[in-house]
This record gives sequence, C-alpha cells and structure tokens, in this order.
Amino acid sequence: MSSIDHILEQAVAGNRISVEDCVRLYESDQIEKMGHAANLIMLKHHPDPITTFVIGRNVNYTNICDVYCRFCAFYRAPGSKEGYVLSDETIFQKIQETLDVRGTEILMQGGTNPDLPFTYYTNLLREIKKRFNITMHSFSPAEIMKMKEVSGGLTLEEVIRELHAAGLDSLPGGGAEILDDRTRRKISRLKGSWRDWMDVMETAHRIGMHSTATMVIGFGETFEERALHLLRVRDGQDLCIANGWNTPGFLAFISWTFQPDNTNMKGEKQTPEAYLKNLAISRIMLDNIPNFQSSWVTMGPEVGKQSLHYGCNDFGSTMIEENVVSAAGTTHKVNISSTLQLIREAGKIPATRNTKYEILHVFDDVNAKVEHDFVMQN
Ligand code: SF4
Repeated sequence: MSSIDHILEQAVAGNRISVEDCVRLYESDQIEKMGHAANLIMLKHHPDPITTFVIGRNVNYTNICDVYCRFCAFYRAPGSKEGYVLSDETIFQKIQETLDVRGTEILMQGGTNPDLPFTYYTNLLREIKKRFNITMHSFSPAEIMKMKEVSGGLTLEEVIRELHAAGLDSLPGGGAEILDDRTRRKISRLKGSWRDWMDVMETAHRIGMHSTATMVIGFGETFEERALHLLRVRDGQDLCIANGWNTPGFLAFISWTFQPDNTNMKGEKQTPEAYLKNLAISRIMLDNIPNFQSSWVTMGPEVGKQSLHYGCNDFGSTMIEENVVSAAGTTHKVNISSTLQLIREAGKIPATRNTKYEILHVFDDVNAKVEHDFVMQN
C-alpha cells in the first residue's frame, strides 16, 4: 500500500490529515484516487445526489482601488478617467432585475475605494434593505479593512457590527488568494497579511455572521504554502466551533486558478487537472467545512461538471455579472437552463438554495420548464 493510499484511507475514515500529508498529496499525480476520496467525504456531508446553486448577482459597485494587486485586471487607480462608482439607482435596478428572475443573493464587491466614506456602505445597505427582500452576501475582507481605515477610528468589530446592523448578512471570502505572506507580498503587497484576512473572518464569526473561504492557486506558491492555506482555514473554522459562536462560520470553500491574461503578472495557466487536484485535496483537508463550490465561471462548464465528482456539492451562483474574472479574459456564460442541464449531465439532481445553503427548490422533474430563465449579460 502506498503512503498516498494510506493518507486517503485515513481521511475517508474521518481522521485529520497533517500539513505533511497534504504536501504529499500535492506531490502525487494520483488525481483520480484523490477525487474518489474527496467524493466519499463529500457524500458524508451530503448523502443525497443533489447539487445546489444559488440565483444571484455580482454587483461590482466600484472599480477604483488603491491596493493594485498584480494579478488584477479589473481595478483602476484613484483619479483614473476609467474609474467608476455605480449610482444607488443603478444598484437598486440591478437588485430588482435579480429579484425578477427569483434571485436571492447579491454579491456586492469592488475595489478598496479610498474616496468612499464608511457611511456610504451603511447608508446603501439600509436603503437596499428598506426596498428589497434580498440577502446581502457582500464585501470581502480587503474592503472591510478599507472601511475600517476610513471610518475615523472604529475597531474592526465595530465596523462589522455596524455593517451587520445596516443589513449585511454574510461575508464572501474573496481576497484570500494564498493565505501565506510570502506569496501575498509578491502578488498583492498592499492587501494585508493572511492574518488580516482571517481577523476579518473571525471577527464576523464572533458576532454571529457566516462567511465563505476561497483559494486561488497558480501564483508560484509552493505546495507547502498551499497546505498552510488549508490549515489556516481549518484552524479558523475550529476556533469558531470550539467557541460555540452562534454561526456556522465558513459555510463553503471555493477555489479556482489564477487567470494570467490581461494582467501585469506573467504566469502559466494552471491545467484543469491542477484545479481538480487542488479541489480534491481541499475537500480532504477541510473536514469541518460542509459545502464546496465548483468554479465553472473560471474553469468552464465541462470542468465544472467534473468537479461534482471531486468533492463539490454546489455549482455556485448563476451570476449575471462577473467583471473581475471577465476583465482577465475568462467569462463562461451559463444560464439557468444550462446550469440544470450541466448538473444533470453530471448525474446529479439540481436544486436552488439560499446563501445559508438551505435548499429552496429541487428540480426533480426533467420535463418541467424553467419559468424564469435569463441570459447572463457580459
Ligand atoms: S483584486 Fe481587489 S483589492 Fe486587488 S486590485 Fe483588484 S479590486 Fe483591488
């Protein structure tokens, strides 16, 4: 029996794997075995053959950013003629359009715009909640850190509490990239340390909010740095569970690969196999996170289908806008009908869910027409 077999057997039996074991998996090319183990672990969390997705919209409210990540093709520097901040009316219209197609979630994300005061966010959230019944799964840790900076002396906890009180329901885990400072210094020096990212998440969990965690591979990080990323997410979730905070903490984990086109960073595009391997290893390592999202927006629908056999139980969001990824040259258009089709082709039953991963509607009748279909716009 090879040591890879032993590591996988241990993981499937419910025993935690170490950073060293995790590195061994990255060094191995036995991807199918890892996928099989990841699938068995996924089935423990989700025994039914259902793959969920959420109908949501990504609203990129501003592209002005003073963090200048080297891999980002979306941002414009403060003062740029191409910089924008969407008007409140435009944002409201996008939310209404989302509700019109039975959407339940708004993923508002933008640059870290130094010209927006903290009251911009709290007022906007209040106005949104006054008008709409929609879940705000918005603002990644880098934006929260910027809000703290412009807030005039509020603590991180006070910032997150005020946002939560104004209507922020959940935090997306964007900007984790690789949670290790050597890589972060190389690719996004001004974005803060891995500890900053985790502090935002742990603070949100402590006050009862839930969130997601992400990972992006392909920046030249070592296998050990990838393993440390996973360990830090697992530890963050352990902390939440051990303290009995009133939240599921990290509800989901989402990984994808760096897309080098149109960015200031050269790099080799990661293969679909590298994505699937990372996905399987993540599912194996992160025994305390229930949901794994497929990244079909970045990896394409076919790899998306395969990912459902490598540990994913969720097909992410049928996003209407995805400017950050599409600015780097990768946009895969998928509407609700094709989302259903892809999930079925993978041998699963599609179902819509909300941001808490509670199932809303199971599409178990293959002949039923989709009443509210829509086509993505970019
Ligand atoms: S990835 Fe986010 S924080 Fe980095 S430059 Fe782009 S918009 Fe700014």
